[in-house]
Amino acid sequence: MKTVGIIGWRGMVGSVLLERFRQENDLEGVDVHFFSTSQAGQPGPDLGGGAPLLDANSADQLAQMDILISCQGGDYTKEIHPQLRASGWEGAWIDAASSLRMMPDSCVILDPVNRPLIDQALQDGIRDFIGGNCTVSLMLMALQGLFDAGYVQWVSSSTYQSASGAGARNMIELCKQFQDLGNAAAAQPAATALELDRSLQQRLQDPSFPQEAFGAPLAASLIPWIDRAMPGGQTREEWKGMAECNRIIGREENPVPVDGTCVRVGSMRCHAQAFTIKLTRNVLLDEAEALIRDANDWVELIPNEKEDTLQRLSPAAVSGGLTVPIGRLRSSLLEPNMLHAFSVGDQLLWGAAEPLRRMLLILLERI
Ligand code: NAP
Repeated sequence: MKTVGIIGWRGMVGSVLLERFRQENDLEGVDVHFFSTSQAGQPGPDLGGGAPLLDANSADQLAQMDILISCQGGDYTKEIHPQLRASGWEGAWIDAASSLRMMPDSCVILDPVNRPLIDQALQDGIRDFIGGNCTVSLMLMALQGLFDAGYVQWVSSSTYQSASGAGARNMIELCKQFQDLGNAAAAQPAATALELDRSLQQRLQDPSFPQEAFGAPLAASLIPWIDRAMPGGQTREEWKGMAECNRIIGREENPVPVDGTCVRVGSMRCHAQAFTIKLTRNVLLDEAEALIRDANDWVELIPNEKEDTLQRLSPAAVSGGLTVPIGRLRSSLLEPNMLHAFSVGDQLLWGAAEPLRRMLLILLERI
């Protein structure tokens, strides 16, 4: 029986991963152990029979596992992964963090899109399998049909990313911000819209408004900056669009340009993106629709109609589900051979936990 260690199960990605394991009963017959950086010795989750948590900072304890899954974060990976490999540990490392994604001896996993590359990596003896950036993975799930057909000359993706993309602490802070604004509104039941706007604006600009995690108000506002600055004016989240997309589809030598602006918005869960897609040739809208619709089992083409869009193409409609709807698909007025589209997907599922979960199943079948 293979031993599997799970680190970071308490965080957003980790809790969604555990939820998926429970739903699919994936861990039956697996000897699973849970680790923590902060709670070693305390009782672990039911999936591990409540056994005491192991120490995620102990390379010795980690090295007892055949497979490790980390949802703990990039700093943790940077610290512990080199120690483990240096100690001679030859197990498989599956990770949600970005630290190892661009390493030459890692494979970025999104199996509905790049299963042949994953199989090749396994054959080549690769042992580090890293989930892709959430918006990039969701873009590829939505546009796979056009990429597979070789029809994408470039993509501009402007994102609308939810609070949960920044982790559990940030989600809790967004709720506190909503509550703060709700309290300010409730204090003036008879106020006009303009009066309400003024008092909410006052709260948003008050230094006591909760914003420790985000560094700025997100509720009733937005933040057009995610992650750190990169040379050339991009943020790192924007930089990942092109770098990771081409790594996932195996086109690093001949990359498809991808660029756009990444924006944090006040949705709780699910990232949305508006695409402008320059095509390599003239493609009829019907053909583009068929390619998109048939590319994988999870993409769902939403008719470009108001009612369908309101009902099916929003974080409120999509959150917690594995489907990746794409709609508002139309030809552009800007240039010939250009499309516009809009997609929403649960970034904690296809953008994080689901590729990790499926990679574990692939490994359990093989080793
Ligand atoms: P997170 O929610 O901040 O959790 C990470 C760790 O923080 C937990 O495992 C836990 O570790 C600790 N923690 C501290 N306070 C906590 C609290 N109040 N609730 C829960 N956990 C708390 O991070 P995450 O969003 O899951 O992200 C993990 C990694 O996945 C990151 O590298 C991230 O970049 C990547 N990722 C995230 C997403 C996303 O949508 N969130 C998508 C793709 C990739 P201990 O139990 O050891 O204390």
